[in-house]
Amino acid sequence: MMLSDNDLLKYSRQIMLPQLDIDGQQKLLNSQVLVIGLGGLGAPVALYLAGAGVQRLILVDDDKVEISNLHRQVIHRNQSQGESKVNSAKCRLNELNPDGEVVTYEQRLNEKELLPLIEQSDVVADCSDNFETRFLLNRLCNKLQTPLVSGAAIRWEGQLTTFTMQPDTPCYRCLYDEISATDQSCSSNGIMGPVVGIIGSMQALEVIKLITGCGKPHVGQLTLFDGLDLSFNKLMFSPVKDCPVCSK
Ligand SMILES: [Zn+2]
Repeated sequence: MMLSDNDLLKYSRQIMLPQLDIDGQQKLLNSQVLVIGLGGLGAPVALYLAGAGVQRLILVDDDKVEISNLHRQVIHRNQSQGESKVNSAKCRLNELNPDGEVVTYEQRLNEKELLPLIEQSDVVADCSDNFETRFLLNRLCNKLQTPLVSGAAIRWEGQLTTFTMQPDTPCYRCLYDEISATDQSCSSNGIMGPVVGIIGSMQALEVIKLITGCGKPHVGQLTLFDGLDLSFNKLMFSPVKDCPVCSK
């Protein structure tokens, strides 16, 4: 596929990067990414991926935009209140990059509905806010060997890791136990807006790297960010020998 003059100009500042080049841009223009959750993490993920030229974004979220979302969910606008998050996001993404395709699901998808979407996608971005969804996406991505980029944030803290779902690499279940994992919500704990922006931006970066093959994916590493002292700490983790998801 030849890039059009418009594409060469539009994406010139990233094509200029030798690791990405024309070849990487073509991969982005042929890619599909599934974004689960269009809140604080999903907002920068979707915006940066649309901007980078990801051909098709599939957005899944059953929530509507509320006024208390706006300080951190920067894809939505004041006048989007009451609108579904996926439609609000789709409007912004179409304005940003009319050449990309945006498909929306305003519902929580079950396993059967998610499987074909994950299978078609090059990468899944987990921008959800609950462990049930995280464990489900992990299991399905592992089954289909689809890379998964996982982000989470609460209060002043965030974390990020990537799973390529290749042999001898860990999965989300290797990191968290389904029994002891308990949800913490932004509505009861609070969340600093830029913290989700930082984690979501790093998720978008990981997705672009996975699609284009640039750099090294953040596999077997959990980056922990603390906004109060602006520190990044990294934990290394390995596949768990008897992991119920990835050890078979
Ligand atoms: Zn595992």
